[in-house]
Amino acid sequence: MRAGRLLSVGRFAVLDTPEPEPEPGEVLVRVAHAGICGTDRHLLKGEFPCRPPVTLGHEFSGEVVALGEGVSSHAIGDRVACDPNIACGGCAACLMGRVNLCERLVAVGVGRDGGFGELCAFPAHRALHLPAGLSLRDAALAEPLACCLHAIDIAAIQPGERVLVLGGGVIGLLCVQLARLAGGEVMLATRSPHRRRIAEDLGAETVADAAEARAAWPKGADCVLECAGVAETAREAPRLAARGGRAVILGVMPAGETVSWEPFDWLFREVSLRTAFLNPFTQGRALALLASGAVRAGPLVTREIGLDELPAVLSEVPGPSEVKVLVTA
Ligand code: NAP
Repeated sequence: MRAGRLLSVGRFAVLDTPEPEPEPGEVLVRVAHAGICGTDRHLLKGEFPCRPPVTLGHEFSGEVVALGEGVSSHAIGDRVACDPNIACGGCAACLMGRVNLCERLVAVGVGRDGGFGELCAFPAHRALHLPAGLSLRDAALAEPLACCLHAIDIAAIQPGERVLVLGGGVIGLLCVQLARLAGGEVMLATRSPHRRRIAEDLGAETVADAAEARAAWPKGADCVLECAGVAETAREAPRLAARGGRAVILGVMPAGETVSWEPFDWLFREVSLRTAFLNPFTQGRALALLASGAVRAGPLVTREIGLDELPAVLSEVPGPSEVKVLVTA
């Protein structure tokens, strides 16, 4: 079969590879749609831990085509979305229920072969059934939405609070929708006029950058969600929070890169800084929100490509009108 593989840092190619066989407890899924995530680009550049060679792709949906020994939870033909994060269940973090912090966490599409291939085998308990009426295309956004849900849970947004989202990629635009659902007054900072239009259509105010956000909300935001993963927005996030407010970092900055912050400012304004990593127990809710239409995936999918186009698209910086690119079988 064909698969898009990270061969080493900076080298990604679509190659012929052997078809995977499901191990006991696993399902084999024919991939329908697989999203390109900002993290895939970090992986290509060596900015996120990974051991190549590996087939990338951790946001995908598809149909079950074979069952490993002992699988009774699924049947051939089931429509599923992959929750890629496989926790060990036995380390101290797992035993506290903090599975996203598992010491032996392995992610499909990062630490083992993922969804940028025609077929992917992974544990059946990570193959979540699609609710009735949800398309395989929309379900490909369940994983990033689940990560955003975890951040919104941590942010604990109250109705009427001011929420500032930094970065208008898919993570930013999903957070915009969730913060609106939580009852927040939402503003997105994005440099892209195209993403501004999408955000406005989703009910948010928009500004171009942190300076404009400060001018619009001089007292700051009750909650700032950092969704860009660059030094500038990470530095600005706590500074843009109001007195007593909070900043939640979702963006992944390259490992080893540092940012200068002013703890005095956090202390005197009692700003709390939180981080949100992955999707612990949130992907089922993400599927339900997509199925009900409460969160809209449609406006965020700006391009669908074939597997052979993936190496070029992955190595490009996303264009200003790009949000989510799906690799579609
Ligand atoms: P994306 O589509 O590439 O979007 C990144 C956004 O960052 C862009 O839309 C851009 O915003 C903004 N940006 C880039 N450079 C900037 C700069 N110099 N100044 C201001 N803004 C800048 O990526 P994504 O898929 O939305 O992911 C966003 C981040 O979240 C990535 O770092 C990704 O790795 C991370 N992530 C984290 C989790 C988690 O669990 N915490 C899960 C998934 C992804 P504008 O062009 O709109 O201004």
